[in-house]
Amino acid sequence: MKKLALHWKILIGMVLGVVFGFTMASFNYQQFVLDWVEPVGKIFVKLLKLIAVPLILASLIKGVSDLKDISKFKNMGVRTIFVYILTTIIAITIGLGLVNVLKPGEGITPETVTMLKEKYATSGKAQTILSNAQKQAEAGPLDFVVDMVPDNAVTAMSDNKLMLQVIVFAILLGICVLLVPEEKAKPLKDFFDSLNEVILKLVDLIMLSAPYAVFALLATVVVSADDPDILIALLKYAGVVVLGLILMICFYLFLIAVYAKKSPLWFLSQISPAQLLAFSTSSSAAALPVTMERVEEHVGVDKEVSSFVLPVGATINMDGTSLYQGVAAVFIMQVLWPEGLVFSNQLMIILTALLASIGSAAVPGAGMVMLVIVLEAIGFPSDILPIALALIFAVDRPLDMCRTTVNVTGDATVSTIVAKSLGKLGAPKVKNWDDNYPKK
Ligand code: ASP
Repeated sequence: MKKLALHWKILIGMVLGVVFGFTMASFNYQQFVLDWVEPVGKIFVKLLKLIAVPLILASLIKGVSDLKDISKFKNMGVRTIFVYILTTIIAITIGLGLVNVLKPGEGITPETVTMLKEKYATSGKAQTILSNAQKQAEAGPLDFVVDMVPDNAVTAMSDNKLMLQVIVFAILLGICVLLVPEEKAKPLKDFFDSLNEVILKLVDLIMLSAPYAVFALLATVVVSADDPDILIALLKYAGVVVLGLILMICFYLFLIAVYAKKSPLWFLSQISPAQLLAFSTSSSAAALPVTMERVEEHVGVDKEVSSFVLPVGATINMDGTSLYQGVAAVFIMQVLWPEGLVFSNQLMIILTALLASIGSAAVPGAGMVMLVIVLEAIGFPSDILPIALALIFAVDRPLDMCRTTVNVTGDATVSTIVAKSLGKLGAPKVKNWDDNYPKK
């Protein structure tokens, strides 16, 4: 058991968590799981989020200040954003292609719509999503740029939603470390270098509890799930999203094989703990510390690249989310608003889902809030928006788990590609999966 690689242990934890959840649900012990098992998962997610900000700060300041000249940073920034946008457009196009060909909306009967409407449209859940979306929609076109700039470093670091502000702050500090004389910069560089090492060790420690934590997280998801009847009604729609996500992963692996010249299976096994955590937590932000650790130490991406590409990716690059938004928007139209299914609206979906996925926070359920904005942008009748949400609500959590896995895989892939293009992809520091972990 001790020799088993971490990702296998996590997988076993997940499977046992699902089995345990189903068993407890069948004996009506849901409340027991929520009271006694869910907290284990919550503590784990809190610990991961705790280390995200210090890790971004330390590794980005170190990464930028290690650059020999600033123009390299600009070069990397431009490449990263370009590849992020390109992969997101490809993801939405795959989603739109599948949903138009497979037409999952045609399988939904009026009775199912009524059932879903009664269950969710008037519930607090749909209203909360709509009011959150309303707040997002009220923002001006350049507000997101304004929001990226911190006015208070401590506030920026105190809220995980303000990760972009921390990134901007860290980049500015890193650039200035480069600009001041070497002897003045050294103490600060050494400090962040050492902080970075220590935090990465903390990631290793926290990951030792991952198999137990994912057990708790998955058991909680299972006992909180909806009736099987509802899930079955939405199976075709969920299947189309999952198929799209699988195709997207294949596309990443193709890039890894062809461009980065690495074995796709090797790549998958190196980053799999990050993917499994993304799946279990439904949050790219929570998975970020592990993604950074895996990509730097196990894939061999230079810190200069990963420290910038990954935190930025976790906040703005959400290929899985955008693919899901494309499929969900068209599925909803197929069921509730067939007259909206025109080519111009589909083009509009590509544009708005691109922006919406950039704007989605890296937390559970964020993609669904931004879906409202995509629907509003194509003129979806606002009086039936609650029904639109009701239609997809029941399967949103499992789909969130899958799309977050793709979001994280996309970030890891792009960081590897960008590193390769800059000659910054080397041999991984860690040969065996457990070299990093404290031995007894
Ligand atoms: N949960 C996703 C993430 O953190 C965002 C979403 O699609 O809801 O990446």
